[in-house]
Amino acid sequence: MDEVIYFLHMPELPEVETIARTLTPQVAGRCIKAVSLLSPKALQTGSELMPRLEGAAITGARRRAKLLLLDVRDSSAAPLILAFHLKMTGRLFVHPPETPPPKHTKLILELFAPDGTATESRLFFDDARTFGYCRIMRPEDLPEWPFWAALGPEPLEHNAGFLAARLEERNGQIKSLLLNQNVIAGIGNIYADESLFRAGIHPERKSSSIARTDLETLMLKAQEVLREAIAACGSSIRDYRDAEGRAGAFQNSFMVYGRGGEPCRRCGKTLKTGRVAGRGTVYCRTCQQ
Ligand SMILES: [Zn+2]
Repeated sequence: MDEVIYFLHMPELPEVETIARTLTPQVAGRCIKAVSLLSPKALQTGSELMPRLEGAAITGARRRAKLLLLDVRDSSAAPLILAFHLKMTGRLFVHPPETPPPKHTKLILELFAPDGTATESRLFFDDARTFGYCRIMRPEDLPEWPFWAALGPEPLEHNAGFLAARLEERNGQIKSLLLNQNVIAGIGNIYADESLFRAGIHPERKSSSIARTDLETLMLKAQEVLREAIAACGSSIRDYRDAEGRAGAFQNSFMVYGRGGEPCRRCGKTLKTGRVAGRGTVYCRTCQQ
């Protein structure tokens, strides 16, 4: 039977961070025995670097914005980066060596532990909707990648005052600015709506109409919600899973996201659903001004 593909939520900062944290112990220290690119379109760039992956050692997985990065060193110890954008349905999973790839598998890395401390395994990059991609890059190529070069600062690596100044510099609808990866990286629809609710700010407000102290509060609330979501291993909407196949739990803590028409958990009034910045948006007309 064909899989039913739902409209999915794109993993945001907490989900990609969770994938990186759960993937690292499964791949760090492993070497790549072979690479199979089953769908050439899934490799956006770097086919000429693919031969250097064979025999390369994976040093770890990390996140930048919503990108999942695998750090490797080739046989002459030169660093390479595999950058994955999972988009809506991309997944990275480690499987036992005999596992046949499902039909949406785009790329397979055959892994082994050179010190013999672990059995062989295979890492699949699967993507049912094919919007996700992989890039194989040298670290020095990253600044030349326009998408990478334009990414804004990480919200958990700067203080709220610095991030508020980023919002203040641009005049626009506040939710639109929160979603703009070039202003601040990693926040998507879920965490934008949750941050705005916690800060009591209406998603359609113009940033220029919001006091600096309220922008700082918004960024403190965004940091709070992102940290709580990472602690809960992300939010599972439909089929998001971390790299160990577990669902996150933060969806149980949503104040507004996905709750349109339900009572506000703070004031009891019915939550409103609208379209802001081209995205489905839920907010409370009483609690958010
Ligand atoms: Zn309310």
